[in-house]
Amino acid sequence: MHHLVDVSCAPDRPGTEVDLLVDTLWTLGAIGVQELDGVLRGAFDDKAAALLAAERLGATWHTVDDREGLDAWRSFADVHRAGPFVIRPPWLATVPDAVNVVIDPGDAFGSGSHPSTRLVLGLLPGLVSPGSRVVDLGTGSGVLAIAAALLGASVTAVDTDPAAAAAVAGNCAANQVVDRIHFSLGDASELEGDFDIGLCNMTIDLQERIGPSLAADFTTLVVGGILQGEQEARVCVAHDRRIHARQVEGEWAALVLR
Ligand code: SAH
Repeated sequence: MHHLVDVSCAPDRPGTEVDLLVDTLWTLGAIGVQELDGVLRGAFDDKAAALLAAERLGATWHTVDDREGLDAWRSFADVHRAGPFVIRPPWLATVPDAVNVVIDPGDAFGSGSHPSTRLVLGLLPGLVSPGSRVVDLGTGSGVLAIAAALLGASVTAVDTDPAAAAAVAGNCAANQVVDRIHFSLGDASELEGDFDIGLCNMTIDLQERIGPSLAADFTTLVVGGILQGEQEARVCVAHDRRIHARQVEGEWAALVLR
């Protein structure tokens, strides 16, 4: 089951307003957002979050069974650019002159459509080099792990969601990085090991929950999934680190912490 929230959105509405609505849907917990004809649709797996979003945005909502929403979602999947990368679903053509990251998110998060994913991707080329040891905390579709592996890293990826396991396996094969990514199903805070770089694209609530109890060690941590401003200070406290570099898009921020 999941829940679709439809916000009416006239085609002549300014792009900045549409971006704001898209961000609001993500912030309120959408797992996917798509633009249909005159409608912006947020998909939620949490009914209470969907109801709140519908109320805040004066939108309608309805419930669908899982496959229906996901199949509809597929037909709207698009190509997304971030730094040297292009994130594309397997059924769209290779994009020339870019590092193609082929991602079928399946039931997991991380199609590249969310600004936070793209912000973290944009920071990777300056940090990851061949041989880097990377850990991807909350890997979802595996998009960040695969991008890092394509830059030559060896990656450990972890997620609590069994849907991520299936998505990561398929996506690693599609990108021919099976031997460079190790997936582990479980809680990110319990994963042990020494790494050069940690990646953590999660909401501030999750960062605050896992940050203080992370068992893994890494020199540099890249965080996404946070809003500019107050959440930047909170994420530094959660991980007990300082901001070394920062990238923003709309109201979202990704930070390199050391
Ligand atoms: N890395 C992807 C997905 C981010 S969404 C991207 O950047 O697009 C956040 C992911 O974190 C989800 O897949 C969710 O299942 C996972 N997650 C949430 N809490 C977690 C935890 N405690 N341990 C591991 N994974 C977790």
